[in-house]
Amino acid sequence: MLMIDLNNDVKFVKGVGPSRVELLNKLGIFTLKDLVTYYPRDYEDRSKPKKIAECVDGEDVLIEAMAVSRLAEIRVRKNMVMYKLSVSDDTGSCTITWFNQPYLKTKVKYGETYSFYGRVHIKGSKLEMNSPVFDSKDSNKHTGKIVPIYPTTYNLPQTTLRTIIENAVEQVSGEMEERMPAYILNDYKLCEINEAIKSIHEPEEFKDFSYARRRLVFEELLVMQLALLNLKSSWKKEQKGIQYSSKVKMSDVINELPFKLTKAQLRVLEEIDNDMESEKAMNRLLQGDVGSGKTVVSIIAAYKAVKSGYQAAIMAPTSILATQHLESFSNMLGKYGIRCELLISSVTKKKKEEILEKLQSGEIDILIGTHAILEENVVFNKLGLVVTDEQHRFGVRQRSTIVSKGTNPDVLVMTATPIPRTLALILYGDLDISIIDELPPNRKEIETYAVTKGLENRVNDFVRKQIKEGRQAYVVCPLVEENEEIKAKSVEEIYEKYKTEVFTDLVVEYMHGKMRPKEKDEIMERFKNGEIDILISTTVIEVGVNVPNSSIMIVENAERFGLAQLHQLRGRVGRGEYQSYCILKYNSNSEVAQKRMKIMTSTTDGFVIAEKDLELRGSGEFFGTRQHGLPEFKIANLFEDMDILKEVQGLTSKIEKTDPKLELDKHLGLKKMVDEKFDGRVEM
Ligand code: ADP
Ligand code: MG
Repeated sequence: MLMIDLNNDVKFVKGVGPSRVELLNKLGIFTLKDLVTYYPRDYEDRSKPKKIAECVDGEDVLIEAMAVSRLAEIRVRKNMVMYKLSVSDDTGSCTITWFNQPYLKTKVKYGETYSFYGRVHIKGSKLEMNSPVFDSKDSNKHTGKIVPIYPTTYNLPQTTLRTIIENAVEQVSGEMEERMPAYILNDYKLCEINEAIKSIHEPEEFKDFSYARRRLVFEELLVMQLALLNLKSSWKKEQKGIQYSSKVKMSDVINELPFKLTKAQLRVLEEIDNDMESEKAMNRLLQGDVGSGKTVVSIIAAYKAVKSGYQAAIMAPTSILATQHLESFSNMLGKYGIRCELLISSVTKKKKEEILEKLQSGEIDILIGTHAILEENVVFNKLGLVVTDEQHRFGVRQRSTIVSKGTNPDVLVMTATPIPRTLALILYGDLDISIIDELPPNRKEIETYAVTKGLENRVNDFVRKQIKEGRQAYVVCPLVEENEEIKAKSVEEIYEKYKTEVFTDLVVEYMHGKMRPKEKDEIMERFKNGEIDILISTTVIEVGVNVPNSSIMIVENAERFGLAQLHQLRGRVGRGEYQSYCILKYNSNSEVAQKRMKIMTSTTDGFVIAEKDLELRGSGEFFGTRQHGLPEFKIANLFEDMDILKEVQGLTSKIEKTDPKLELDKHLGLKKMVDEKFDGRVEM
């Protein structure tokens, strides 16, 4: 049977011309498949009409009413024409208003009945509806059904996107290949793929939608779990890892540290030590809140590897962080004769050649760097330990690239993303997990305040006072996409304001991701040295930056950040001896924003925040999981769909026992889906 090719370019879909291709690409839609799996974020029920007398002020509603006046055309001013129509049903009447829609003149006829859908307002005793969509009696283009609402971008109107997706769904209808094995569809009562796609976009009733959604969520979670299973089995191949000598003692370093390790750090180090001394390769996830002292743990592990005759590779997500790591590693390990080097993209060609040579000959013990380490020409002499400080930036594949530069090296993955343990077990099923659940002593709890615009001057006074006392401040702004509908403050805009209006007497600088690495490093260096009072930036400073003297974190448009991210940002302060403050400036009345602010001001426990974050995320929050370090899902929501996840886990462990490599005929479709997940653009 010839099925439709879902990889077809989106430009072949009816209604998609070149300019729309571009807009769709912006939404991450490139193929027919992307289009039909671009799921609605919400629905509007335009299927159940209300009587005019029953309408409530401010609601979006469907009414069926007859035009009892002719369409009046009123010129308000140049380029603005208003159209007015009176309509009524057997309970009351309503005045409808549109603007600049001359085609209405031929569409609306006196004495005819139409279905109107729009927002109503009650003015005095009169009902009004503004700019509704409508259908005549025998049509249901806009009304009489449940209508999907898609996340979209400026310039691509909802109705246009909806029509394009309608066309695509029409095109694939009945033609999509069912890859889910029949026994699974049956055992777990899942609906068939064509039906699922049709109903998720165009549900006739809400229960169709639930049924469709269940199928799609199940599939997404199953593929994720099987992909993890695949990963796990490829890592846990029979081959042995390195067995490090018990003669090299971590305690030699621990006893020389300028501080006492916390109980949690010691426990975690013992777990790592056991892994390193065992003959099986270590694959360990080290979770710990920002500032909990993960870096020092990895330094001690690296010591053990190097003193046992191996090299270590440390991967960080940004050059700022890599540079900082180099400093920490060299400071602590230099005295043991351990040689550390830095490889980031800004290293000169000559220096790079030298590094590569020394790495290969074994003259470098620890190589610290960014993605640059992944390049093919980076060859180790004897790589025995890989540490990725991933802070949710690296994909599984990058991790395996670096791992393949050694022969079954031990792997330590560090993350500051607190994930509830149950979830971590599921998502990182391929790794053993260690948790540092304790901060070093004498840390002062960061005080957090959420403020709205009215308090701006007081905030500024406070910042000035802190700086006069010798402290420094960060100001973080959301990233501004060129096409964003919401106007958020950009780095440069804030910089101008602070520098020329508010803090004219202070040293204000800014930094963002588009700057050259060298520029960023320079600014960071100056900030570290205390030469800059206020550093304005995007979230580039989110990851791991350590400047103990900075005691204030101001987040502009805090409503634009997820909880997990706010927590990360807050972790940039409170790293020294000073009382630190986090000020969340927000500008939104939405309930979710209010709740987020409340959570941030009431706890500093990363795990509590992670739980709440999952809870607050609706399934519509499309880009949410990225900040979380969790795999990105198109439709599944790990909090809401916990029950389905459990079913999926049950099924996965059955498959693991009977056909872990998905070689049976009945699992062919599943295998295809898993392979696509690995090879496609999707990173886990
Ligand atoms: P993380 O990487 O987990 O965010 P770091 O390793 O950067 O945290 O540690 C933050 C700061 O705390 C560093 O300056 C580090 O030297 C210091 N530190 C780490 N462990 C301890 C400890 N047990 N006692 C005191 N200070 C510590
Ligand atoms: Mg760190």
